[in-house]
Amino acid sequence: MTECEMCGWNGDLVRANVEGTILRVCKKCSVLGAKMEEAKTEQKPLSLARKMEISEFVPDFAEKIRHARESAGMNKSDLARRIGVSPSLLSRIEKGMRPTDALARKLEKELKIGLFYTDTLTTVKAERTPEVTLGDVVELRIRKK
Ligand SMILES: [Zn+2]
Repeated sequence: MTECEMCGWNGDLVRANVEGTILRVCKKCSVLGAKMEEAKTEQKPLSLARKMEISEFVPDFAEKIRHARESAGMNKSDLARRIGVSPSLLSRIEKGMRPTDALARKLEKELKIGLFYTDTLTTVKAERTPEVTLGDVVELRIRKK
């Protein structure tokens, strides 16, 4: 793999932690995610609100994206071009790799689908009570079902 997994650019790549996924990306794209070296010291308590956001991502996004793409009559290259990523990255997303939030928003717009839950109650609670434990979060999610 010699091309950037985010933009398809060919050249020097760095390993970057993009939204929790390790990707090989070009230097330009690596600023979107924290670089591996920096990621090690990244764990801060305030990241809880963000963690909540990740957990609000629909679990069946891969299938949702693929179905929407197919019913829109697009192949992977078509859709990849429309949202500005390489077909190989799109392929991985359709196999279950979580896209970045920015990319997910593009997919939502392009395919007219929803990839995020809009459970504001959960999000507000997490933002207002940063001391909420992971146990509380799990409990919240169980109660939601
Ligand atoms: Zn790139």
